[in-house]
Amino acid sequence: MLYGIIADIHGNLEALDVVLRELRPADRLICAGDIVGYGPNPNECLQLIRGRNVQAIAGNHDKAAVGLMDTSRFNDSARRAIEWTGDQLTQANRKYLTDLPLLLESPDFQVVHGSLRSPLDEYIFGLQAASPTFEIMSKDLLFVGHTHVPLRLKEKGKEIINPGAVGQPRDGDPRASFGLYDSGKRSFIFRRVEYNVAAVQEKMRIAGLPASLIERLRAGV
Ligand code: ZN
Repeated sequence: MLYGIIADIHGNLEALDVVLRELRPADRLICAGDIVGYGPNPNECLQLIRGRNVQAIAGNHDKAAVGLMDTSRFNDSARRAIEWTGDQLTQANRKYLTDLPLLLESPDFQVVHGSLRSPLDEYIFGLQAASPTFEIMSKDLLFVGHTHVPLRLKEKGKEIINPGAVGQPRDGDPRASFGLYDSGKRSFIFRRVEYNVAAVQEKMRIAGLPASLIERLRAGV
């Protein structure tokens, strides 16, 4: 089975569109959370995710956009964007986000946004933060998102992989990040693809979204 693994789309339709085109060969698509927040096209991204039968779990922005998560720890720009996002959502998309589970268990792997001990909050940037999650993994492979940085960690025969962010990369490379997992070969490859950053930035300006969020897309930070 060939899985397309994506995460942290953040309402960036141009990036999602290009990534889904690259993932056409995949048998199944998996999203490790944060479909909305920051970007200008939350409803359109949700339509694509739902239309393509992507199996998704919730990110902190997904739950915050429907009022199911406290935003007091969000910075000002993130909070403004999440309030804007909440105002845009259609009833059907609101329900979809409300119903998103925190954890996905497939025969081949698990999927969570942050970490297994704190699905919506904890960031796994390295082995130290990953250690408690490694201990409670029920499969030997876990996909995460949340940091927006591609990462692959191994410990005692287990693996945690972050495919990076589709819609707001933070590793200094502005191209959309994603991955392909071949469960037969047990192999994962990271992929990057360019998309029309300027078009997204223009939509964000028109929507009145914070300037800092518009700027960071160009630099990939
Ligand atoms: Zn995110």
